[in-house]
Amino acid sequence: MKNIKDFDLDELKNELIGLGEKAFRAEQIFKWLYIEKVREFDEMTNLSLELREKLKQNYTMCNYKILKKQESPDGTKKYLFDVLDENAIETVLMEYHHGKTICVSSQIGCKMGCKFCASTGIKFVRNLSCGEIVEQLIAVEQDTNSKVSNIVFMGIGEPFDNYENVIKAIRIINNQKGINIGARHISVSTSGIVPRIYDLANENIQCTLSISLHATNDEKRSKMMPVNNRYKIEDLIKACKDYIRITNRRVSFEYALAKGNNDNIEDAKELVKLLRGMLCHVNLIPINKIENGEYNKSTNENIIRFRDYLNENGIVATIRRELGTDIDAACGQLRRKSLNK
Ligand code: SAH
Repeated sequence: MKNIKDFDLDELKNELIGLGEKAFRAEQIFKWLYIEKVREFDEMTNLSLELREKLKQNYTMCNYKILKKQESPDGTKKYLFDVLDENAIETVLMEYHHGKTICVSSQIGCKMGCKFCASTGIKFVRNLSCGEIVEQLIAVEQDTNSKVSNIVFMGIGEPFDNYENVIKAIRIINNQKGINIGARHISVSTSGIVPRIYDLANENIQCTLSISLHATNDEKRSKMMPVNNRYKIEDLIKACKDYIRITNRRVSFEYALAKGNNDNIEDAKELVKLLRGMLCHVNLIPINKIENGEYNKSTNENIIRFRDYLNENGIVATIRRELGTDIDAACGQLRRKSLNK
């Protein structure tokens, strides 16, 4: 059966017309799904019984069951959701001063093989559909009885390896007739699949593009991130510059600091050279060591020195607050430890 959350509003209108109904019913259904967040078609009380029956016969609502939920004293919550085909999805909710941020997964497993990331140990199973991405947000809002204000595509998976579903999910999340999270509150993070950066630039969505850079030369970056063998730093930076020119949007670079690997002042100098003059922001992440991983967290001293060097040399850089480390919910820690699959 089809998942009703796999359709954007226009597609839903076509579905309704296909069922012999009027297109405006789609907007009513959209509201029930994304504003009221109902879990049953029978709760859609302004639809006729007959239409509700038709919907039940043709669609599922993809309601997630929470398999496991862990909470950290810092307010971070990690969810493991049960998907219908016996796979599981991890989602994290973080509390910041400016509101709640949800970190969603875009795939079950990941193909990118970044050496410092726990998702690398998981076999790639499949892409998540757009409805499965959106449902992460709805299920978390329902569980916490609260509204999420920001969404980042930084969970398991490479969003640009599941480009179409991710873009559609963003359009649904952004739609004013539904969830209505402003595009500026949506970030998509990529390990650097260059052609998709150009695609995103032309989508006319005002979301934030985040690039996982982590190193300033090809030798070092290729060791950390195999994707760099395909798309070199020079091409990546050029794509980012083009992205900025086309969209007028600031790009965010993520840089995970690993002791003795990429946290020297020499690295900071190279980074300044690479990003000089760009409309960008650098997010420094103290690397989270993974089981059997070769990279260790930088010292606080080095992290601060690195940040200060960037800031003194015209690159805006901040250190990302670490949340949820105690429940394996911090950057790069997500994986299906608990499922044993
Ligand atoms: N595949 C996408 C999004 C998922 S990862 C990407 O690569 O951007 C989200 C962010 O966490 C990325 O910047 C990633 O490089 C970073 N990350 C992964 N493992 C990490 C770790 N062990 N410590 C710190 N950051 C990590």
